[in-house]
Amino acid sequence: MKTEKKAAPTIVVIFGGTGDLAHRKLLPAFFNLYMDGRMADDFAVFGLGRTELTDEDYQKMAYKSLKEFSRRTPEKKDWEAFKDNINYFQSDINDEKSYKDLLKKMEALDKKWGKRANRLFYLSVSPKFIETISVNLKKQGLAAEDDQDRVIIEKPFGYDKDSAIELNKLINNSFKEEQIYRIDHFLGKETVQNILAFRFGNALFEPLWNRNYIDYVQITVAEKVGVEDRGGYYESSGALRDMIQNHLLQIMCMVAMEAPTSMDAEQIRDRKVDVLKAIRRLKPEEVNRNAVRGQYGEGWLEGEKVPGYREENGTSETSNTETFAAIKFYLDNWRWQNVPFYLRTGKRMQEKTSSVTIQFKPVPHATFPGAASDNLMPNKLTINLQPQMDIRLRFMVKRPGLEMNLKPAEMVFNYDSCSTHTPEAYETLLLDAMLGDTTLFMRSDQVEEAWDAIETILESWDSRESINFPNYQAGSWGPENAEALIAQDGHVWSVNTMKRKNNKEC
Ligand code: NAD
Repeated sequence: MKTEKKAAPTIVVIFGGTGDLAHRKLLPAFFNLYMDGRMADDFAVFGLGRTELTDEDYQKMAYKSLKEFSRRTPEKKDWEAFKDNINYFQSDINDEKSYKDLLKKMEALDKKWGKRANRLFYLSVSPKFIETISVNLKKQGLAAEDDQDRVIIEKPFGYDKDSAIELNKLINNSFKEEQIYRIDHFLGKETVQNILAFRFGNALFEPLWNRNYIDYVQITVAEKVGVEDRGGYYESSGALRDMIQNHLLQIMCMVAMEAPTSMDAEQIRDRKVDVLKAIRRLKPEEVNRNAVRGQYGEGWLEGEKVPGYREENGTSETSNTETFAAIKFYLDNWRWQNVPFYLRTGKRMQEKTSSVTIQFKPVPHATFPGAASDNLMPNKLTINLQPQMDIRLRFMVKRPGLEMNLKPAEMVFNYDSCSTHTPEAYETLLLDAMLGDTTLFMRSDQVEEAWDAIETILESWDSRESINFPNYQAGSWGPENAEALIAQDGHVWSVNTMKRKNNKEC
């Protein structure tokens, strides 16, 4: 029987309700969940901010956000029905009294609805506020019910392993682990979740999914944009902290994990932690051979000249921050022994693309003579995550004709041919958080292990100035050393520039 997820009555509180994330992602996500019938009849969203605004002012701002960022254009009648659930609450995070006032508002809604609604607190603010907010939520009694009240924490979660452990301790003083939802929005993406469906919904690939048949794995998350207006934040972060520690390692976990016995949240998270624990820790003297950092200089993108990283607002003229990172990981376990996992991410790259490539080993013996096998290529499975969303399996076929010549062909599953309304990652994640499903959120040990896995690289890069920054041009595929990292093993980066083919069948 097909069951549709629907949230229980919930009061959502967005700390940072007037911020960028609330406008671009959170408010549009709630609107689309509402339109899809996933919100309870009784729900309310409180956007919190310091600015003096009325509910109507905030609703107008929200409407603007929806028009700009929602995957659905809001029709007047839908907006009119939705907007009554959107409220503004003026407060300063540091003001204890405002928590008491907010509690009164919530209790008034509970009374009106005739039940104690669930409460979801979204901390869409700088990490420096996490302590104040969580202490006050507990102290003032806003989050008094362990099984009904939840808190969502945005990235960055810590700055390194020690700070992540500290942060976990601090939040655990106010909340139980099962109330804490550490968000990694990549995990909410349809195509990323589909990795699990693909791996564990098919018997076909499992026997091949190991070191006997897989030569290497590549994970690329390339962005075309630079640091935009986040130069100040990025300057103390960089590609390793901002992308590899969370998004790319999480994708790697989905690719490499063992099959869970069920889709139970703890089962899945346990299997992912196993992967993170299996990552071979580098010694300081091994960092250079296994990790490459880069920073973009000025260059050209789509015919336009774009500035280098050091010329962006909020960055230093002598910045040591990497905007590109490529790392070779090994997993020390039976399944993956000696299979390299190449992870790469960068800003101001030639293309916006996120993909996983599973490169199978070549055939063991050259059956076809001479020219027949000139085009012989090993099988390759490409999982395109964004913006292209498909799965492609490359295999060899006979080229039609009188001679026995081989050529590569592709089988393609294309998301667009199956769905016209793929939910945004934040929709999936917010609905799960309202339902109390932690599967797609990071547990404390996942975060700490992920930091631990990159600790030596972080220390090495933080402690040594890079002498050759900037070392790649905006609009390129990153520094030359990144090519060398993989070329030393006889491989190349699999840049998927193949044009999308329409596959009408689902
Ligand atoms: P932002 O700076 O746009 O918004 C922060 C909000 O906090 C603002 O509305 C500000 O008014 C409010 N604020 C600051 N001090 C306050 C105080 N004393 N009292 C009450 N409100 C106060 O930031 P953002 O881009 O929305 O990011 C929020 C969080 O989400 C950050 O942790 C960020 O790292 C994370 N994040 C953002 C994005 C994104 O796309 N914007 C993506 C991933 C993660």
